[in-house]
Amino acid sequence: MLIVGALMTRPSIFISLVVTSAITLMPASAQETPAQTASPAISENVSSFERAAGGNDSGYNSSVATADDVKPFDPAAATQVWLDSVPRNQREKSNAYFEGGYWLILWDFVLAAAISVLLLASRFSARLRDFSERVTKVRNVQVACYAIPYLLLVYALSFPLNMYENFLREHQYGLATQSFAPWFREQLLGLALTLVGGTLLVVVLYAVFRRAPRTWWIWGTVVMIIFSGTLVLIAPVYIEPLFNTYKPITDPKIRDPILAMARANEIPVKQVFEVDASRQTTRVSANVSGLLGTTRVALNDNLLKQCTLPEIRAVMAHEMGHYVLNHGAKLLTYLGIFILIGFALARILFDVAIKRWGEKWGVRGISDPAGLPLLALILSTLLFIATPFLNTVVRITEREADAFGINTSREPDGMAKVALKLGAYRKLNPTPLEEFIFFDHPSGRARIRMAMDWKAANLPAGERSTTP
Ligand SMILES: [Zn+2]
Repeated sequence: MLIVGALMTRPSIFISLVVTSAITLMPASAQETPAQTASPAISENVSSFERAAGGNDSGYNSSVATADDVKPFDPAAATQVWLDSVPRNQREKSNAYFEGGYWLILWDFVLAAAISVLLLASRFSARLRDFSERVTKVRNVQVACYAIPYLLLVYALSFPLNMYENFLREHQYGLATQSFAPWFREQLLGLALTLVGGTLLVVVLYAVFRRAPRTWWIWGTVVMIIFSGTLVLIAPVYIEPLFNTYKPITDPKIRDPILAMARANEIPVKQVFEVDASRQTTRVSANVSGLLGTTRVALNDNLLKQCTLPEIRAVMAHEMGHYVLNHGAKLLTYLGIFILIGFALARILFDVAIKRWGEKWGVRGISDPAGLPLLALILSTLLFIATPFLNTVVRITEREADAFGINTSREPDGMAKVALKLGAYRKLNPTPLEEFIFFDHPSGRARIRMAMDWKAANLPAGERSTTP
């Protein structure tokens, strides 16, 4: 289940690169638009809010107090002021939500492992294989006859935790907007997709296992990359429309500044969309999905409703960063490396386990579908151990998009405000170890600091010629 389950239930890695936010906003002041000069203009630009962040006037005894009265902009202090602006109860709530997610990673793994062990030790897996062999002599069909009940059973046994994690808990924290019926309908839709995609994948993988019992880990990696790439490629066209409606952004006040950034970065105009995510969630977010010709950037309607133009520009520029920097293809490549290492280790561990317990479990070898729970157990364990490394690879990619975004949007305060809104469901100020292990995006603190560092650098925009 994990191979497939990861694809379907953790689409963040595979399908979308998500950035987010949620709350109220300050009006965009003219000074928040791009710095037009190289003059030490920051002091003129600071609102009282940022002035409080940047300036500590105490002890500055100035008898010649004029322009020198203003202290240089201090990014660290400014970052702290932004962070301190979040009310305590709000911060505690989002910390609790996010830290609860740490434990869910563990419980998800423990449950997946327990299900695998149960299926093996009870010999249910062996009996299901025997059943599939009685049904047909055709190997591929046997594998499908094994895979479909297996996927259904794993889904059913995981359902209570799934429902707590994705329905009850989301409501508990005010992040969900769906009642049970529409949520469950989407679950069934996801299950149907998992059955189709998962069965196809398992059948192809076992065809590889039968033909290459020693080198399956190499060819299996190739299969996984092709499968993941295909999934990412078709997602915007065939999968995402099943859950949400995507339409081009039409409000000229929002559309035109976004299209200006798109044009400045050679992004085809038709790729900027609005998605009705409020159907499922109150989260503010945007994403890039697809690959090659199907790639598109989408803002969600929560973001459009709750954010000011500077914030929207900051988020869109980040998403455009994913597009321009080809992050879809790059993440797929990194993923391929992880899969190759994982399959290489799985090849060794699988054989060790079969030598020891194969007879007891009734599993003959890698090409026997009865060993699928063992393979899932090994891969989910490796995936669990790899969590910090996978998160770090994705987080670094997100940081690249942030850097692209701040340079394109030139909205340091917009970026800071969005980072605070993301704090509705992501811990704002984690320890470095926490960020390394659990964060697949930079923390709010890291993002605000990047924005404030950018602001402090006060980059010139270059000369603007008046001639056409
Ligand atoms: Zn992103």
